[in-house]
Amino acid sequence: MTDADDVQPSRKLAIHTKILIGLLVGAILGVTANNLFGGEQWLIDFIDGPVYFVGQVFLRIIFMVVIPLLFSALTLGVAELGDIRKLGRIGARTFGYTLIVTTISVVIGLAIVNIVQPGHFLSEESKQELIASTDKDKIIANAETAKKTKTVDKILQIIPNNPIGDMANSINPHPAYAGSGFIAVMFFAFIFGLGLAMSDPDTVAPIIGVLKGIYAAVMKIIDFAMSLAPYAVACLIFATTARLGFSVFKSLAAYVAVVLVALAIHQFGTYSVLVYFLAKMNPITFFSKIREVMITAFSTSSSNATLPTAMRVTEEKLGVPREITGFVLTLGSTANQNGTALYEGITVLFLAQVFNVDLTFGQQITVLLMSILAGIGTAGVPGGSLPLVVLVLQSVNVPAEGIAIILGVDRILDMSRTVLNVTGDITAAAYVARAEGVVLKT
Ligand code: ASP
Repeated sequence: MTDADDVQPSRKLAIHTKILIGLLVGAILGVTANNLFGGEQWLIDFIDGPVYFVGQVFLRIIFMVVIPLLFSALTLGVAELGDIRKLGRIGARTFGYTLIVTTISVVIGLAIVNIVQPGHFLSEESKQELIASTDKDKIIANAETAKKTKTVDKILQIIPNNPIGDMANSINPHPAYAGSGFIAVMFFAFIFGLGLAMSDPDTVAPIIGVLKGIYAAVMKIIDFAMSLAPYAVACLIFATTARLGFSVFKSLAAYVAVVLVALAIHQFGTYSVLVYFLAKMNPITFFSKIREVMITAFSTSSSNATLPTAMRVTEEKLGVPREITGFVLTLGSTANQNGTALYEGITVLFLAQVFNVDLTFGQQITVLLMSILAGIGTAGVPGGSLPLVVLVLQSVNVPAEGIAIILGVDRILDMSRTVLNVTGDITAAAYVARAEGVVLKT
């Protein structure tokens, strides 16, 4: 969508407005259905049948093209940057930004959860009820597989010896898969792009042409998928609210509030400061230009699914060149997840409070470091961070089944933290572009 499309004729609503309407309609109908018919079998069948179907069609079309998109965008980004020194500079800036800003986000989260202590608000009765009501086994099994891998192998797995295997396991990993998923795919794309950049341009021109073709086709497919988004989003949110209503939020209200407040502080506090000083942009203009991306992130709960919208908006509305978005945003969609890191820190401390596990200062530092790593290693898919929450829980001796307590409210928190994850990537791209001397559209 271009700026011109913002001025819509009155009968044609912009896609992000339609998605917002879908969200509201889905939520209102869902809460009403839960109040009137909560728990009735026909409602459960309706949610598990047509409602589930529509939501999944949308998500599956997007996930179908995520790997081709990630691969073509990152390879082209690296190949088009060409100059290895420039690449090194951009890489170092992106990496430095990610480490510092992720640390800030986790510190905000840990500070608030320590002050409010939401874990002490949960009654023993609700705790047992929540543990019994959710299915946590698959998440714990995934974490177990990851735990079995030795640290040296975990590092080695970033270099894929079978990139196709990693591609196949990035989105919906087989329980026995212990590789590093998206990170390995990105490593492959990165190295492949370097290979192209260093080769004779005439020889590799056909491959570059093919990658550009894949990228263009994927963008068209995503456009089509986004036209389904308003309906799909209504279904996704209906499924959550009709099943749970408000009751689950009541017992976890303090925890949900702590996560949302911390996310809001980072979203509108930290990013405003960064946008102002690093990208030299007015934060209000920035947020208004990227609102379509924020709504897409909120409705899909997936940084990877939001990547195409993020790339388009960052190029068209902020004026960041494609080779920078191709590099920073693709890497960021997996490796720069501030919202996820913040949420991991809060969740682990919250569950420690629930189980009365007193964490020493040293253990809190472990949570801090592991949350930062989780922000770097989490796949940008719905619920991608949950297996990592289990790993961090276990590292500080909090029972892993605790994950069940928060699963009921995870969807809404996932939607919210994904907004941060994606906003952080765009902030990074704007900063890197500006540092490279690009004049942004402010
Ligand atoms: N859904 C998040 C994302 O895609 C990842 C997570 O925190 O679960 O960015």
